Amino acid sequence: MPRTYQLHIRLSQPLRLQIGRFGAFDFAAGDYVYTGSAKRNFEARVARHLRREKTLRWHIDYLLVAAGVTITEVIRSDADECALNQATPGAIPVAGFGASDCHRGCGGHLKFLGA
Ligand SMILES: [Zn+2]
Repeated sequence: MPRTYQLHIRLSQPLRLQIGRFGAFDFAAGDYVYTGSAKRNFEARVARHLRREKTLRWHIDYLLVAAGVTITEVIRSDADECALNQATPGAIPVAGFGASDCHRGCGGHLKFLGA
């Protein structure tokens, strides 16, 4: 059973987002990958990410409900989420984004692939 997912995300326009108490951040237009995991209720978690109507809880929620943001692909994996994240190319646009539960010092679980 998969436990890790990667969301391929496209921003059609640059964004400035206020992410709760985490802060306000600028995101360039382009392609991103977010790596997360769910040990239980895995498909419900994926479905939640795909749904735009929800209570904003995680950093990624704020990004995914913003205007011009679409999920272009969902990848399911058996790999450890941090190992998969570290094996994914790209720069970390916001230090600590999505890394509240990170256990391997990734620096962030959202990566910017490029415009
Ligand atoms: Zn990590």
